[in-house]
Amino acid sequence: MSEIKIGLETHVQLDTRTKLFCGCPNEEAEGPNTHTCEVCLGLPGSKPRTNEKAVEAGLETGLALDCDIAEEVVFSRKTYFYPDMSKNFQITQYEEPIAEDGELEIDGNAIGIKRVHIEEDPAKLVHRGGSMEQADYTLVDYNRAGVPLLEVVTRPDFESPGEARRFLQKLTRILEYLGVYDRGSSSIRSDANISVGGGNRVEVKNINGTRGVEEALEHERKRQERVHGRGEEVRRETRNWDSEAEKTTSLRSKEEEQDYGYIFEPDLVEVEVESGRVEGARKRLPELPDEKRSRFIEEYGIEEELADSLITDPNLADTFEEASEEVGAELAASWFSGPIKKTLNYHEISYSESPLKEEWVVDVLRRLQQGEVSDQAAEKVFREMVEEPREPGEIIEDEGLARSRGDELEGYVEEAIEENDEAVADYRGGDGEAINFLVGKVMEKSGGSADPKEVRELLEENLD
Ligand code: ZN
Ligand code: MN
Repeated sequence: MSEIKIGLETHVQLDTRTKLFCGCPNEEAEGPNTHTCEVCLGLPGSKPRTNEKAVEAGLETGLALDCDIAEEVVFSRKTYFYPDMSKNFQITQYEEPIAEDGELEIDGNAIGIKRVHIEEDPAKLVHRGGSMEQADYTLVDYNRAGVPLLEVVTRPDFESPGEARRFLQKLTRILEYLGVYDRGSSSIRSDANISVGGGNRVEVKNINGTRGVEEALEHERKRQERVHGRGEEVRRETRNWDSEAEKTTSLRSKEEEQDYGYIFEPDLVEVEVESGRVEGARKRLPELPDEKRSRFIEEYGIEEELADSLITDPNLADTFEEASEEVGAELAASWFSGPIKKTLNYHEISYSESPLKEEWVVDVLRRLQQGEVSDQAAEKVFREMVEEPREPGEIIEDEGLARSRGDELEGYVEEAIEENDEAVADYRGGDGEAINFLVGKVMEKSGGSADPKEVRELLEENLD
């Protein structure tokens, strides 16, 4: 296979409460154009103001990706016309991104991070009646205008489409750990540069999601190989990825960054980033996925495979730790890699998406350990908690899953008889009082919870 070079420019929507330059809510809206104001509609005279949380997210992401942090946060206007942008410019960072020159390791290969910056999302165009080319007309929804985006630009260090996908999976996991990304609602869109066999670089635009990146790049790789195969040169251009048709089509010959005529945004003040603030953010950084993975393997002695699956979801990882503390790592590991995983896989949901709660999971494992429920019953409780969410205690009662009290007591009686030959012989030899000793032993085994009268009757039945 010929040598491949891939670089990514990825936009991730940040999960902030409000938009980047106004107070409009950054959340799912009931109807189009309802989460809007004069700023995100770009009305004349409106003035933007910067969302501190978005800046914070940019800072933390930069640190998590081992970047150098800028000394000040400066925004610029990127000027171009497109109907999704009523101001005719996008507020972004150009001259000085919030973070640059970082690195992220993917399976032993260090991927260079060129820059990380913050910018606003444009509005959403809704093409009615088909794709952009076939639509009868197009609507504009400004709910998305001004949603904060984090743009991460890598160096062309990926050697395969699969590696690019794994990078995005790892990046979004880090952002999830930082609490700035919600995999359920935040969109992730990439443009990718790819050149095959030392030929010209082609930019593929509009790729959605993480898996989409691998698909689009595989297609473009094969297309470039076919061009080479015909003895032709690959044209340097921008191509559009059409995920439905599964092909790329030529959009335009590549424009250059300077064509956008960047100027500093005069309506926003420059924010100085003091070193104290950077240090504060560094201290606040949570334990990141790679660190957690190594610690889990060492601290709990679990298999790499289980560690990998636990860290995919920070909530799952937390629940595992809590469960290990309560019932021991061995029991927790076998249930997290077994029945719990099986139940989630069956419903094709992640732990975070499931109705399971940490206290419920721990409660079931505790009851299992104390012999209150059998393995099969505990498994059933997990299934029920996902299918018809309620507390484990309720499920056990509703479904009659507790080990029956009678069975338990019967067991204690048999044990007491087996373990106390002398008292048994005395009783059988006619010493009626000897049974009191045996009742005492059974009471002890039941932790004092048995009814002494019932115990006496059971003993008499068994001894006569
Ligand atoms: Zn607004
Ligand atoms: Mn961008």
